[in-house]
Amino acid sequence: MRTCRTVASLRRALAARAGDRVGFVPTMGCLHEGHLSLVRASRRENDVTVVSVYVNPSQFAPGEDLDRYPRDERRDAALLRREGADVLFLPADAEMYPAPYRTWVDVAGLDGKLCGRSRPGHFRGVATVVLKLLNLVRPQRAYFGQKDAQQALVIRQMVRDLHLGVRLRVLPIVRDADGLALSSRNAYLSAEERRAALALPKALRRAQARVAAGERDARALRAAMAAEIGREPLLQVDYIAVVRLDNLEDTAAVEPGNTLVAVAVRAGRTRLIDNFLCGEISC
Ligand code: AMP
Repeated sequence: MRTCRTVASLRRALAARAGDRVGFVPTMGCLHEGHLSLVRASRRENDVTVVSVYVNPSQFAPGEDLDRYPRDERRDAALLRREGADVLFLPADAEMYPAPYRTWVDVAGLDGKLCGRSRPGHFRGVATVVLKLLNLVRPQRAYFGQKDAQQALVIRQMVRDLHLGVRLRVLPIVRDADGLALSSRNAYLSAEERRAALALPKALRRAQARVAAGERDARALRAAMAAEIGREPLLQVDYIAVVRLDNLEDTAAVEPGNTLVAVAVRAGRTRLIDNFLCGEISC
C-alpha cells in the first residue's frame, strides 16, 4: 500500500495505475468494520482501491467535535494494509484547502433538511470535499455507507448535476452484535449512553417490520418510534423522519422504493444517526 500525503504524490501513485479500474472510499478515519465493508466491496469490483482518511474541517460547524474527533493514523494504515487497499491518501488541511480557498458546492434543497437543520453548513463541506477528492482520484466507482443516507443522497445529486460520471455504490449499515450501527463517534458514549442508544436500532427494526407487514402511515410510524426512543431519558430526539428518497421531503405515506426512515438523537454530547431504506441510493 502506498501512503500519499500530498496531491502531487497521489497523482504520481495513480499515474502508475493508468488504465486500471479505480474504486474510491472516502473516510474520516478511526476505521471500523463499516468502513472496511466499503474497502472490501471496492477490492472486489476494481483493480485499484484508493482510501482517503481526512477529517474535513469544513463539514464541522463551530462548536462541533472537530478537535476531539478520534484519530488513529497508524491503526487505520495497518487495517487498510491488511484489507489490501492499494493507496492511502492522508492529506493535511493545507493540501486540501490551499489558501486563499474560495470554491464551495451547495446541493440546494437537500442540504438544509434532516441533519442539515441542526448542522448548518455540514453538507456544503461534505459535497465540497467529496467533489475535490473525486476530482483528484477520478474513480470509476465510489463507495459510501447507507449509515449516512442523506450524505449519499446529496452526493448522488451532485454526481448527477455535475455530470461526474462516477458510479455510486451505497452499502448496507454494518452493526455491532447488539444492533447499534458502527460509528467512530460511538467511542464518545458512556456505558449508560451506549445502552440507551440501542433504542435507535430497536425503534427502526420495529418500524421496518411494520412496513413489511403493510403499514404505510408515516405518522403512525413516527409516533411508534418516538414512543420507543422516548423511553430512554438519556436520549434527546433531534428528528424522527419519514421522507421521500428523491427530495427528502416529509411524506404522509411510505412509498415502497422511494422512502427513507431516519432518526437522529443526542446522547449527552454525542449525536447518533440511524435509518432504514425502502428503496435504493446506488446509481
Ligand atoms: P466517516 O468516516 O464517518 O466519514 O464514514 C466514511 C464512510 O463510511 C461513509 O460513507 C459512511 O457512510 C460509511 N460508514 C460509516 N459507518 C458505517 C457503518 N456502520 N456501516 C456502513 N458504512 C458506514
